[in-house]
Amino acid sequence: MSRVRFSDVEKMYGTIRAVEKIDLEIEDGEFVSLLGPSGSGKSTVLRMIAGLEDITSGEISIGDRVINDIHPRNRGIAMVFQNYALYPHMTVRDNLSYGLKLTSDLSNSTIAERVETAAEMLGIEDHLDKKPSGLSGGQQQRVATGRAIVREPEVFLMDEPLSNLDAKLKMHMRTELQRIHDELGTTTVYVTHDQEEAMTMSDRIVILAEGVLQQVGTPDEIYNRPANLFVADFIGSPAMNLFDVRLDGASLAGEGFEYKLSNGTVETVRDSTTTSDLKLGVRPEDLSILESPTEQTIQATVDVVEPVGSDNYIYAQLAGQELTIRVPADVKPGVGDTVSVQFDEDDIHLFDTETERNVFAQPERTTTQTAESAL
Ligand code: ADP
Ligand code: MG
Repeated sequence: MSRVRFSDVEKMYGTIRAVEKIDLEIEDGEFVSLLGPSGSGKSTVLRMIAGLEDITSGEISIGDRVINDIHPRNRGIAMVFQNYALYPHMTVRDNLSYGLKLTSDLSNSTIAERVETAAEMLGIEDHLDKKPSGLSGGQQQRVATGRAIVREPEVFLMDEPLSNLDAKLKMHMRTELQRIHDELGTTTVYVTHDQEEAMTMSDRIVILAEGVLQQVGTPDEIYNRPANLFVADFIGSPAMNLFDVRLDGASLAGEGFEYKLSNGTVETVRDSTTTSDLKLGVRPEDLSILESPTEQTIQATVDVVEPVGSDNYIYAQLAGQELTIRVPADVKPGVGDTVSVQFDEDDIHLFDTETERNVFAQPERTTTQTAESAL
């Protein structure tokens, strides 16, 4: 087990900057997901740890060792890929042991023991003599994971390992991978574009967009305190409602509504923004529908009522913009109705339109830098 540290790590493919300078520390035993849309640089980051891509500049270390120039085989990592890359002509047992036979000087009996243990951990001990073609997708995925486990690496690297499974199996394997992580406690870096996977499995999530690190935080921090507009919009389904507003005295003035802020909040906004043009964000579940309008409610017109079992999603129009409201299943306004929508100041997110930063969640780094420059 080991921590993984990035210092100023950058990756260029020719003139294309795939990853912009990253500073990041993944703690020993931590499960960290790299989450972002396709092309955001997730695999590139993972492949640099694995040694499958050169590091253009900066340093990556595992434990106390800088690994930039260390051969992939000697980095103490094991990788699980999306396409399991099993050897079709070999049995499951041979698939599991082959890598160790090739790259380690472990005795045959030690290897056999590791294979048995991993197979039991994964529930594939009865399939050891089958070929991959005789296995289900889920079992093949387990073999691929087992092949990483038998190496007893310091760090597991997984690149979208569940994307080829159907929804139900995916959910099951999510729990399996978490159980294995709990059991082994091995530092894990997990690449996914699926926010639900990242939110449910990770100790912390690293969000990337276009090769730029957007935020590092626990699932709770990422959801409740998105660092910027990108994260706010990317995380959450249905997505956060976002409105253009202007700070006008003590109110946020938007198209078709005005929202009065408390004095404390007005001060925070003034202190941490350079512009009075802001984006107001409210998650669908933080909006509620009141029986009758009050000073703080906003009038909207119902377009669609979508039942999703425990809840209803209400899609409504507010001055030409769509608003998504998540309400309990017994709240069922009619299409075309005007509803009074309410939200608490505690639940709002505000973003500076120039920097795109969350006004309420300025990065900690600012304080550190201030403290340092004061020395
Ligand atoms: P993700 O895994 O988040 O989908 P990647 O890390 O695969 O993203 O890619 C990040 C960026 O780097 C993309 O713009 C991609 O086109 C580019 N890229 C990836 N691999 C190569 C390569 N071998 N040569 C040139 N560009 C590449
Ligand atoms: Mg990828």
